[in-house]
Amino acid sequence: MCSWKRRKTRELVLPTKSMRKYIENIIIGAGISGLTIARLLEEKKIPYLIFDSRSNIGGKLETIKHGEYDLDVGFQIIIEDYPAFKIFPEIKNIKIKRFESGFIINKNKNFYKILNPIKNPIGFLKNSSFPDFSIKDKLLLIVLFLKNEKSKNLNVVKYLTNLGFSKKFINDFFKSFFQGVFLDKNLQIPLEYFLFIYKLFAKSNVGIPIGGINSLATLLSNKLNKNKIELNNKIIKINENSIIDSKKNEISFRRLFCTDPSLESLMDDDINVQIFKDIQYKKTFNYYLVVNINNISENIIYLFPDSNIISSLYFSKKNGDNYLVSISSLNCDNYNDIKNEFISYFKNVNSLELIQSFNIKKALPYIDKFYKFKNKSYIKYTNKIYFSGDFLSTPSINGSIESADNLIEDLEL
Ligand SMILES: Cc1cc2nc3c(=O)[nH]c(=O)nc-3n(C[C@H](O)[C@H](O)[C@H](O)COP(=O)(O)OP(=O)(O)OC[C@H]3O[C@@H](n4cnc5c(N)ncnc54)[C@H](O)[C@@H]3O)c2cc1C
Repeated sequence: MCSWKRRKTRELVLPTKSMRKYIENIIIGAGISGLTIARLLEEKKIPYLIFDSRSNIGGKLETIKHGEYDLDVGFQIIIEDYPAFKIFPEIKNIKIKRFESGFIINKNKNFYKILNPIKNPIGFLKNSSFPDFSIKDKLLLIVLFLKNEKSKNLNVVKYLTNLGFSKKFINDFFKSFFQGVFLDKNLQIPLEYFLFIYKLFAKSNVGIPIGGINSLATLLSNKLNKNKIELNNKIIKINENSIIDSKKNEISFRRLFCTDPSLESLMDDDINVQIFKDIQYKKTFNYYLVVNINNISENIIYLFPDSNIISSLYFSKKNGDNYLVSISSLNCDNYNDIKNEFISYFKNVNSLELIQSFNIKKALPYIDKFYKFKNKSYIKYTNKIYFSGDFLSTPSINGSIESADNLIEDLEL
């Protein structure tokens, strides 16, 4: 079984005996899933050590400081009623910049403000200035809120069509709004997950933590011993009973928790079953501009159903008429195209400057195969190695926490 190449790799990385250590529980990844595992072990006073190759905790919950601005790597929001948040009561106290419940939609060169129908049904029904939203469509939003479908295989757009929503409404509202959430304009996601997110948006407060999305990871890590988090240390090999880190230290474990599917590629051939080898990701682009502009609304999502490149944007006020604008696109890596289209929508721009852009290639995992994996959202890979994370649950903060929580709950600790 052993090829020459593998023997050679092993020889290269095998550490000397004096360097070997033992840690009862090793967690690879200080993203939200790894931090959740650590918190749950900490509560039970069980020893652990987290490794992450990055220089900061948080994984995909990444915020970059740019002068006075905290810029999230990708438009990321917290839904305050995420069910998994209940295991961390302190999340209730996190300061959140909330979005107004509803959105502003651009159609035929005009802007229309639409209120959330569940929170404000009378205002929503009365506010009929938008040309494409019929009374039937509006009432069906309430019907949809009451639906409970467990099927994974029904196509979301077909389901909405069969329910009676008009094509225009599906395009201008559902596809336009939810493409930014699922990073997929065709809404090819399990129906159950779509309904779950739709209902949460309808009834819950939504926003971004002050200081950026990474503040959530920092909050969870506040109750962890910082000496138990080893950053800037990439794991380079995973054996049945041990890992090897970037400094060529071999550390053996009783349990290993992996929170990224790419870790499978580091596994010894004897244990690698290649379950994640075909995993794919949805991408997104995010542009941050400082804009001097008047007569706009801040902290509400703007939608552009007719645009081929801008999916959504929002403004946050800085001072006077200066705003930070975050623009999301599913497909456009050309800033000039984004800028020209932005100016075509907002004629009252006095000045604008791009301060940062992100091209996020591995944003959300495609989840068809692993969606809520075996209803548990984690995998026992070998007798000692486990995988958890958004790729085994739902691609969200809620999914990452839920996956880790289910895993620790099922272990006999
Ligand atoms: C652009 C974007 C927008 C999003 N929008 C939202 C949103 O609005 N709302 C929402 O709920 N969710 C959103 N999400 C999803 C959410 O951010 C993720 O689901 C969640 O952060 C994933 O956490 P995780 O712990 O499962 O994985 P990760 O955060 O990916 O953590 C895995 C960690 O493992 C580490 N690692 C990997 N390999 C190694 C190695 N060899 N050695 C050491 N460490 C290693 C990585 O560095 C990483 O820190 C968004 C994600 C992106 C990217």
